[in-house]
Amino acid sequence: MAKRAIYLDYNASAPMKPAVCEAVAETLGWTGNPSSVHGFGRAIRGALENARGQVAEFLSVQAEQIIFTSGATEANHLALRGAGFARHLVSAIEHDSIRKAVPGAETVPVDGNGVVDLAALEALLQKDATPALVSILSANNETGVLQPIKDAAKIVHAHGSRLLCDAVQSAGKLALDLSDPDYLTLSSHKLAGPTGAGALILGPRAPFTAPVSGGGQERGRRPGTENVPGIVGFGVAVCEAAKDLSRFQKLQHLREKLEMGVRAIAPLAKIFGMDAPRVPNTSSICMPGVPSETQVMAFDLAGIAVSAGAACSSGKMDPSHVLLAMGASSQAASSTIRVSLGWETKAGDIAGFLKEWEAIYHRLGKQGATAA
Ligand code: PMP
Repeated sequence: MAKRAIYLDYNASAPMKPAVCEAVAETLGWTGNPSSVHGFGRAIRGALENARGQVAEFLSVQAEQIIFTSGATEANHLALRGAGFARHLVSAIEHDSIRKAVPGAETVPVDGNGVVDLAALEALLQKDATPALVSILSANNETGVLQPIKDAAKIVHAHGSRLLCDAVQSAGKLALDLSDPDYLTLSSHKLAGPTGAGALILGPRAPFTAPVSGGGQERGRRPGTENVPGIVGFGVAVCEAAKDLSRFQKLQHLREKLEMGVRAIAPLAKIFGMDAPRVPNTSSICMPGVPSETQVMAFDLAGIAVSAGAACSSGKMDPSHVLLAMGASSQAASSTIRVSLGWETKAGDIAGFLKEWEAIYHRLGKQGATAA
């Protein structure tokens, strides 16, 4: 694996914390299936239920509300299919695991800062009395912009509808009250846990019928033998995240340094969502005239890992639907990268990033950037 010289792609996957690595490593030596009634199975079941308790405590919910999955993509699909609604409303900035799961959904627009338009949500719900499942993520993965989930939930519930909130990019980054959504989804590896684990949390008024049949695991709601190492690591990861919440807040200072540094190099460089409340670790930065994938490759050559906001499908970069929904031009949306910080990020990493950003900008960018 490439040496992580400067890793600034935490929103894609956060490196596991040492306590998580230790817990996962220990499970690899275990024998048995958590559904077996013998002692081996019961011991593993105990570890699984302990992790469920940890996730429940982290979210202040009951353990029975939690359905472990292979990650947030599966959890989002499970919610969308299991809820059984014929009508779907989806914010314009949802992750593809939601957007592509309900292609015929009505779109709830966002404003120029990337915040969901609650008046438009209300108008959509008012114009048609059919109850809907409304999907709004709690923080966008590209911009970090936080969404007004409490207010959205009030509107949704007042219309007899239900709310699915993908909390993947806010959980463990801020102390948020996520008690209002009817369906909540999480991903372990965004929280410095192992990949291959996640959860769907069902609220008390959330209709749910398992869309997949098989064994009785997860109370029959998600059949299939659970990923025990992943789930045990997930449990430790949420405990670590809860402990480290105030340290995570401090990343905001590093992000300010980063954004001020970019602006000092190119005063008109656009930083998307900058005027809205954001999670402390994410920055979406446009370098005019330089395609995102060129930037990502140039940074990679310099040993710096960042990510393109745009999605790559069959070798062709599509401009980010998130930035387009915020009113960005296709050119600006295709020249933007996402930089995401995390628990191992140091001031030196930001300095290294800025040095390289400046070099790439002078080598490939438009001199005298225009506002995107
Ligand atoms: N939702 C959001 C907002 C995400 O950022 C991601 C990961 N990019 C997912 C869902 C999918 O998560 P997973 O990798 O666990 O399937």
